[in-house]
Amino acid sequence: MNDLPKHQGQRQQLIETLKAKGITDTTVLEALQQVPRHFFMDPALAGLAYTDKAYPIAAEQTISQPYTVAFQTALLALNKGDKVLEIGTGSGYQTAVLLQLGVEVYTIERQNELFKKTQLLFRKLGLRPKKMVFGDGAKGLPEAAPFDAILVTAGASEVPHALLEQLAQGGRLVIPIGQDEQQMTRFIRTTATSFDKKSFGTFRFVPLLADKN
Ligand code: SAH
Repeated sequence: MNDLPKHQGQRQQLIETLKAKGITDTTVLEALQQVPRHFFMDPALAGLAYTDKAYPIAAEQTISQPYTVAFQTALLALNKGDKVLEIGTGSGYQTAVLLQLGVEVYTIERQNELFKKTQLLFRKLGLRPKKMVFGDGAKGLPEAAPFDAILVTAGASEVPHALLEQLAQGGRLVIPIGQDEQQMTRFIRTTATSFDKKSFGTFRFVPLLADKN
């Protein structure tokens, strides 16, 4: 796979679009400038990689829209070296953006086809999440908790309590909540027992699925 000057130019255009839509976090924009989104798309759709849209990947799932990736990543307020849990590995694009920001990534995917495909792709690209897990991310990853940040990339009907419990103090959980459309919601763990909750507008995600087992 090649990342050509043509692609880099298209990414520059995309970054301008994201700025125009209100993304201001320069660290996040820089990370999106660095990650070749076309590596993570179905080859038949790769030509569309730098339009600001979600596209189908395998197993009836989608690669998130760049705006959404930038928006959610900015809400995580990451620092280099943070321990981050991502739920919904999907294409691996969001994972790659997180890795580009210098954080330690644990990522969970529930569709085996996607899990295997993206695991192979990461090997090919030399991308190294700390751990990739096949399973139900609504349960979090208790053995690796606490996390500085948790990102859910599928729409949840309500916030899974396991995820709140697995936040470090000061930790951020970013999760779209709702049925047909979702409110982007951020929880910050302020003390052992209290959370600050805030909403950031309406988005549309594929649903967070219940465990298959
Ligand atoms: N970050 C991904 C988003 C993919 S869409 C990307 O940009 O490519 C959301 C993903 O969440 C899908 O791959 C879906 O299979 C996965 N998913 C849904 N429910 C899940 C669950 N309970 N646990 C883990 N992954 C889940």
